[in-house]
Amino acid sequence: MAVFSAPMSAPTPLRIAIVGTGPSGFYAAESLLKQRPGVEIDLFDRLPTPFGLVRGGVAPDHQKIKSVIRVYEKIAATPTVRFFGNVRIGTDLTRDDLLRLYHAVIYAYGAQSDRALGVPGENLPGSYAATDFVGWYNGHPDYRDCQFDLSQDQVAVIGMGNVAVDVVRILARTPEELHKTDIAGHALEALAESRVRDIYMIGRRGPIQGAFTNPELKELGEMEGADIEVPAGELELDPASAALLAAGGDKVAERNLETLRTFAAKAPTGKPRTIHLRFLRSPVELSGSGRVEQLVLGKNRLVVGRSGEVKAEATGETETLPVGLVFRSVGYLGTGIAGVPFDTKRGVIPNDHGRVLAEAGTVAPGEYAVGWIKRGPSGVIGTNKPDAVETVNLLLADAESGALNQPAEPAREAVMRTLAGRGVRVVSWRDWQRLDELERQGGAALGRPRLKLCRVEEMLAALDD
Ligand code: NAP
Repeated sequence: MAVFSAPMSAPTPLRIAIVGTGPSGFYAAESLLKQRPGVEIDLFDRLPTPFGLVRGGVAPDHQKIKSVIRVYEKIAATPTVRFFGNVRIGTDLTRDDLLRLYHAVIYAYGAQSDRALGVPGENLPGSYAATDFVGWYNGHPDYRDCQFDLSQDQVAVIGMGNVAVDVVRILARTPEELHKTDIAGHALEALAESRVRDIYMIGRRGPIQGAFTNPELKELGEMEGADIEVPAGELELDPASAALLAAGGDKVAERNLETLRTFAAKAPTGKPRTIHLRFLRSPVELSGSGRVEQLVLGKNRLVVGRSGEVKAEATGETETLPVGLVFRSVGYLGTGIAGVPFDTKRGVIPNDHGRVLAEAGTVAPGEYAVGWIKRGPSGVIGTNKPDAVETVNLLLADAESGALNQPAEPAREAVMRTLAGRGVRVVSWRDWQRLDELERQGGAALGRPRLKLCRVEEMLAALDD
């Protein structure tokens, strides 16, 4: 492949495409702009709306976290930055198109699928990926038509990460609490009718191996409409965990155990819902006649693996939980884009610190990855900042050494021509600002922060009005 050979004397400015407009995409743009003022950046999103998981993932009752959007808005307002919403990379524009138009492409499109449990019955009606529920309550168009049977009174959430905590909290919130948030209108209505009473959150390992962070765990004990229940016996530590804690290396685990102990000491106060935490249990089967009626859990013990990790091992003992609704919250999974190297097992684009690697392990000139599609689905929003800086530093080093891609058609307007020729209705930043304003007005009329538009057609119709 031809390379970008004379960066300093190049006739066109450095032109970069960023695929995905969540935190990692915006932090990559920010780092490029800081280090190379004048760099031209086109941000692509398959949705008409920007911000990735900040809009479609962060729980609606965590509005403060969403204020990070102000930083992204400033980046988008830079004159050399453009937003191309409603453009799907892989179909509307292919990877070859991007390499024809840009000196470099940064893949920042996150992880859009979910990990499977691999147990019988996990796809029965009544069992759902937590990621579907999250997309649904956040008004993501892909999940607008999902249906969850909230007439069930017993629900299980499998997994002990922050996504599981979000799902448990949203199920436990009162309609009044949810009304104050930007939760999607359809979800607000459905949750207001919810008959969910008992929510079981189930972890395969012990109390100090929970993947949640401490503020998130604490919130479960401060719910207006739900008590928390943790049997004290669940918090007895096995020797390996006790030794780990005694060594003092894991402050989060220490705080979590302390919080869990305060939960165990709490007496029920008669709130309408109860959140139950259960450890050392793995789902082995979901069963029922035509839909989920039971969740069979295998009890585990903890053992120390070869590399010192504490693992769950089945004891052979099982118990059955009579639940009518199950949310599987065991991690997101990245998906591939046609023509772009992809590691299906790990769900990431193979890369060396952000430089995309082709099949033979050689660097693919001009292709980079940031965020969850680079490192897998872990970390909080801020984790994406140093991650993006690492990739951008390599990109700029490659620009200096003449190792970028040499596009055949680097003109700024070429991408517009291509998209117009294919009949793609591009949503610009200005268009997004109009949608944003409409959503805020819709919310204000109801005393809510925002009323989200949840269908792409609805958004495009509002713009063409
Ligand atoms: P996560 O933190 O990786 O947690 C996944 C959970 O699923 C773990 O408890 C894991 O247990 C469990 N698990 C995995 N495979 C399993 C299996 N086969 N059977 C039973 N349990 C299984 O993932 P996440 O909750 O999806 O969150 C993704 C990232 O987003 C995390 O970094 C999270 O902190 C972040 N996030 C942050 C916030 C926030 O800051 N408020 C909110 C949402 C998400 P093991 O530990 O035993 O593997």
